[in-house]
Amino acid sequence: MRVYIIGAGPGDPRLLTLRAAELISSCPVVLYTGSLVPQEVIARAHKDAQVLDSSGMNLDQIIEIIMKARDAGHDVARVHTGDPVIFGSTAEQIRKLEELGIAYEIIPGVSSFTAAAAALGRELTLPELSQTIILTRAEGRTLMPEKEKLEDLAQHRATLALFLSITMIRSVAESLIPSYGAQCPVAVVHKASWPDQVIVRGTLSDIAAKVREARINSIAMVLVGWVLTADDFANSRLYDPEFTHRFRKGTKASKATSIEGSTA
Ligand code: SAH
Repeated sequence: MRVYIIGAGPGDPRLLTLRAAELISSCPVVLYTGSLVPQEVIARAHKDAQVLDSSGMNLDQIIEIIMKARDAGHDVARVHTGDPVIFGSTAEQIRKLEELGIAYEIIPGVSSFTAAAAALGRELTLPELSQTIILTRAEGRTLMPEKEKLEDLAQHRATLALFLSITMIRSVAESLIPSYGAQCPVAVVHKASWPDQVIVRGTLSDIAAKVREARINSIAMVLVGWVLTADDFANSRLYDPEFTHRFRKGTKASKATSIEGSTA
């Protein structure tokens, strides 16, 4: 018996990994976070499977279901949104499983921050502009560790992906303006990859008003950084014709020849 901690991706069932789809279809017990995992993902469960929504359960109740499955010798598909290792509350479940000697395996998934960037059609790392993405959240009822306050992280001016923060968008923007500047681009992607996905674009100075106007107050990724709009960034070295790397030899000489050739 094993518990599969599965990343179900951001919403679109076609963004499940093959492994996730296979396990959701085959496990006799499917326990999913109903607040964020859509029905279409769960629809592939076997018709005789026990399919349970964990959104109204506490940790002990979740573990109880897993223990019953263990007693019956049934594998469990524990289905989480996005990737299970990012803001998944999976660690506390894993700790209990380890205490109980129950085997588990994590199946990674497409996180909502990459799905949001995909919806925007933007790369989040650009040469010389931002080579770092900070995945974080605004401080709410979950307190932030010392040195991880938004104001502190903002000093890096890296690309920011904020989970669980949309209801605090006004204070988020205020915390970031001193480091990023009021005109820094922000994009909010509500329900990335779902049929009713909404994108709101703005700057740190106007995003809060735009989000309020669009009435977005849940399931939203906030992306911040100049990478969202920049078009004057440097090309990467990877495809630079003169750059040699393991898989390709640079062509400095031939370039020179062709220039000579064309002027001859
Ligand atoms: N493990 C998940 C995150 C879970 S925390 C992942 O990797 O994506 C829940 C937060 O994720 C939400 O508050 C929201 O900020 C973000 N989120 C999850 N699904 C989303 C989606 N489809 N579109 C935008 N944001 C999403």
